Amino acid sequence: MKKVCVKGGGQKPLDMVLGQLALAAGKLKLDRNIHEKLKHPQRTLIVAVPVRMDDGRLEVYTGYRVQHSMERGPCKGGIRFHPQVDLDEITALAMLMTYKCAVVGIPYGGAKGGVVCDPSKMSVYEIERMTRRFASEIAIIIGPDKDIPAPDVNTNPRVMGWIMDTFSMSVGHSVMGVVTGKPLALGGSSGRLEATARGTFYVTERMCAHVGIRLAEATVAIQGFGNVGSHAARIFHEHGATIVAVSDVYGGVHNPGGLDIPRLIEYSQGHGTVRGFSGGKAITNRQLLETRCDILVPAALEGQITEENAPRLKARFVVEAANAPTTPAGDCILKERNILVVPDILANAGGVTVSYFEWVQGLQAYFWTEEEVNERLRRIMTQAFDDVVAVMDTHRVDMRLGAMMLGVGRVAEAAALRGLWP
Ligand code: NAD
Repeated sequence: MKKVCVKGGGQKPLDMVLGQLALAAGKLKLDRNIHEKLKHPQRTLIVAVPVRMDDGRLEVYTGYRVQHSMERGPCKGGIRFHPQVDLDEITALAMLMTYKCAVVGIPYGGAKGGVVCDPSKMSVYEIERMTRRFASEIAIIIGPDKDIPAPDVNTNPRVMGWIMDTFSMSVGHSVMGVVTGKPLALGGSSGRLEATARGTFYVTERMCAHVGIRLAEATVAIQGFGNVGSHAARIFHEHGATIVAVSDVYGGVHNPGGLDIPRLIEYSQGHGTVRGFSGGKAITNRQLLETRCDILVPAALEGQITEENAPRLKARFVVEAANAPTTPAGDCILKERNILVVPDILANAGGVTVSYFEWVQGLQAYFWTEEEVNERLRRIMTQAFDDVVAVMDTHRVDMRLGAMMLGVGRVAEAAALRGLWP
């Protein structure tokens, strides 16, 4: 396979995504006007979020909502609460959402949002007040047919419930479709909580069949034990894979014979971390990434696999459950080492796919069973994997570029058909 690396691209997330877009545009011989349009987010909103803290002080947080593209439908993308949130990162993630939705063929464009804050140092009341004020500040650009947020790092169904309630109060009636990833009692979908991880599992299962290995005999290491990482550990474990290592922000745990995942999940729920679990040896996050395993699943933050550690990875496959976990320089090294990378816009698209199901079910006020949700998810993820492989085979490119070409091609087709207004 021909090796194509992003040369000269910086390590910042936006440079990285624009580098991937440039490669895909070159390979697709994309119209330069459409390429130019895709380089820019359609809308960027920066808001001040004043919050009354429990001790009476006023704290002002900065929030963002970036809408990259609405060529294929309303914008869609998560909201994260994290101290490292910045406009560069949110814009890059909004762009990835555009191509992710196109790769799985769901009728959305891409968006992302976030607030610069450290929720681990805030009370639940402070987080609620911050969420509600942020929701009301971005309410002018979100809505069920405009832009539909969802959970991401440090946000969850409860936070989505507050956003739904805040938006609903401002218009005077319940608007279920304004966010997805809601609690079941507020119009959430069965299977949404674990959908990203389940989608990652379906894609990995397809990849294993494609490369001729048995997932039930594979060893897996997972970085991140939040929504995506912990559900991935459980689902892979339930299907017979051996989870040899996991980690979270506080540290990790390793057992080459396989971790007892149900017991580890119980432990991490009780202690708020996997660190200190007695069923394995303590390791650092750095050691986790370099653990000997068949499949490495980064499920934490971006920029984890870099030029520095990529030469030492001992995995045969990397399945990117997190968004942008591999830097361009790290990616080049993995390519040279023939480590197959299933890219984020394919590997973690299960979350937005079931968000789409939630939105559809909410609009129809008709809800599906968990089996129906999972079966439809499996069909979409499997088809997306096969579509990406078809592009790889036709153009002789790696999987990241193949997925990007598929996504960019579909967005470009919509953009060309719509034309430019005015
Ligand atoms: P989360 O907040 O539930 O969990 C994040 C996990 O990563 C936590 O266990 C945290 O301790 C760990 N972590 C944070 N910093 C770390 C570090 N430096 N080293 C190791 N671990 C670290 O978030 P999530 O929803 O599970 O999201 C994880 C990733 O998956 C993100 O990249 C997110 O954008 C992506 N993603 C999430 C969804 C979704 O539906 N939640 C969908 C698609 C993609």
